[in-house]
Amino acid sequence: MNFNLINKFLTQYGEFRMQPIVNNTMILKGNLCRQLRHDSFGTINIDYSLLIHIPLNYPENPPIVFESKGAIHNSPANHINPDGSLCLGSPLRLKILLKRNPDFNHFFEKCILPYLYAVTINIKEKGGFPFGELAHGATGLFLDFQDFFHLKNPSQVYQMLKVLSSKRKLANIMVCPCSCKKRVSQCDYFERVLRMRKVLTRAEWEKQFHLI
Ligand SMILES: [Zn+2]
Repeated sequence: MNFNLINKFLTQYGEFRMQPIVNNTMILKGNLCRQLRHDSFGTINIDYSLLIHIPLNYPENPPIVFESKGAIHNSPANHINPDGSLCLGSPLRLKILLKRNPDFNHFFEKCILPYLYAVTINIKEKGGFPFGELAHGATGLFLDFQDFFHLKNPSQVYQMLKVLSSKRKLANIMVCPCSCKKRVSQCDYFERVLRMRKVLTRAEWEKQFHLI
């Protein structure tokens, strides 16, 4: 792991300390007691104990975050994963975010702080997450791909991931994911395939494919 990706965070968020590395994971531990501001939803106070598990292959794999003093009740309404970690977004969105900017400071401010802001409002007002709900589990995963690929059903998503995971020459003659029954390279939808190939590499799409 490139520790420069973490150093800026540790300087800026003095509440956090690095723990010894266990099981190929570096743990950052800290009590985050701060005021968070949002232009539309106002200022709130947060007070959480966080354990941030950063895998040694970060940023290839995303961090996993736990709240350790029980301040966030373990329920789907709070977007807590079955393993008790915070649901910070779909694997695809996290992957793309980290690829664009692998600095942990950026991840913290784009994923973790917005989650903490939203869950705090949800706990206080019980009205759901203010920035919209992330879908969960397998359905959520498909919906997210569907949305991202501009497709309408899971079998189209499956075909699209198959195309993106295959070598170009072979992929280009595969059946188009949009259900037009043409070869993908002969459909207007091919434009989106080309765009997605710029977002992640073939190997990275293949990993996403294995998630479904
Ligand atoms: Zn098509």
